[in-house]
Amino acid sequence: MTEKVTVIRKAAWIVAWDAEASAHVYMRDGDVAFSSAGILQVGGHYGGAVGEEIPGAGLMVMPGLINIHCHSGDEPLAKGLFEDAGTPALWGNALYEFSAMLDADEDAQAAAQTVMLGDLMRSGVTTMLDIAGNHPRWISTMAQSGLRGYLAPGFRQAQWRVVDSHRLDFDWDEAAGYERFKEALALVDTIGAHDCGRLQGVVAPSQIETCRPELIEEAVDEARKRGVRITIHAAQTMAEHEELLRRIGRTAVQHLDAIGVLGPDLILGHCIFADHHSWTRQRTHGDIARLAQTGTAVAHCPVTFARSGMTLETVGSYQRDGVTIGIGTDSYPFNMLEEMRQAMICARIAGRNFAEIDSQGIFNAATIGGAKALGRGDIGRLEVGAKSDVVLIDIKTPAMQPLHDPLRNLLHCAADRAVRDVFVDGAAVVRNHRVVNLDYDAAVSELQEAQDRMLTGSGLNSGCSRKGAKLTLNVRP
Ligand SMILES: [Zn+2]
Repeated sequence: MTEKVTVIRKAAWIVAWDAEASAHVYMRDGDVAFSSAGILQVGGHYGGAVGEEIPGAGLMVMPGLINIHCHSGDEPLAKGLFEDAGTPALWGNALYEFSAMLDADEDAQAAAQTVMLGDLMRSGVTTMLDIAGNHPRWISTMAQSGLRGYLAPGFRQAQWRVVDSHRLDFDWDEAAGYERFKEALALVDTIGAHDCGRLQGVVAPSQIETCRPELIEEAVDEARKRGVRITIHAAQTMAEHEELLRRIGRTAVQHLDAIGVLGPDLILGHCIFADHHSWTRQRTHGDIARLAQTGTAVAHCPVTFARSGMTLETVGSYQRDGVTIGIGTDSYPFNMLEEMRQAMICARIAGRNFAEIDSQGIFNAATIGGAKALGRGDIGRLEVGAKSDVVLIDIKTPAMQPLHDPLRNLLHCAADRAVRDVFVDGAAVVRNHRVVNLDYDAAVSELQEAQDRMLTGSGLNSGCSRKGAKLTLNVRP
């Protein structure tokens, strides 16, 4: 049986991969042909048999975006709760005192995951890495979505506890954490064997400061035996940075280097507070060079952190220093294109320079940067033989007009509003802005009920106002 071939006929703009230049380049008025077997042609005229022909006059064809760090678990349920909250003594972070209070039930997690996947694909994502706790529908929902998925079941040996709204303590249970690690490894094997062929497992010690060094070493060993990726939150907050200094006298990167786990198959979640960061006030400046030397990747997720008043310094300088850096959305709003815009803005402000990173630089991070972090040369680019992960951008939509450079318009103005269709392995997962394989609208309704359920009896309703997360507007009776 021959594969069904889809052709975007005479696309006005194509973001094509120039292998010689090792760069994305624009092409004009050409065909893009693909099937489930891969991309067949980029540019020129495709003369082969065609199953579906899509007129390309009003379209830009670009590679699918790669999100290398997000959390489906309960993050979408925090919407409207903690955006204006933070713990001053923990550098304004909302993570330890507020977000950690969330505890979603299984139905809530399934709804949150469906909404996350829908939002991501409607913002042009075709591959994503989800770090979450396992729930009975986690793998099946991921497979059903049609996206390419890296699933990372997190495990840790300590829970955070904030004492008197100012001190971060750790409740350790090493044995229980080790059991979760063993369960996670079994799950990683199950995920990799899924018959949809688009899923891979990732070994994920959740945070550098909640896992003993021996566990991190063993986890990395097991991942390397299996040839799968490893991801860990490291250098993500100042509270973590201070805890590591107190505990072992090293920064997060120095710690991972000392235990010998840095390498091109390791993705560090966030890696903001390395020793060069202005807040850490370290006397060394070697962390970023060490990441570059070892090929260790960084998942940059600016929105969640910018919301708490902090940012990486800077995505442009990490790129220039040779660090493999990709983009993740971390928490809601799960809008990859908005995340990319914020990444540029944060870099330009933190670097105090408009030239810190440009549109092409951020597009590279969200495509070939993410692909490299995942160890793949067959995604994040439109070239013959690559996977058929393709996004169609409506260049006629008002936010894309007037049109001089479509990628700039997309990143600085239109974002997800211009994403019309999304294909993974040649099959549509978004058609005319609508999610194809999941019941997105039903999941959105379920989220409301799930959030109400989660808040009832949790003490969060009163807790929020007591701790200063006040309503923005008063509710009139
Ligand atoms: Zn994260």
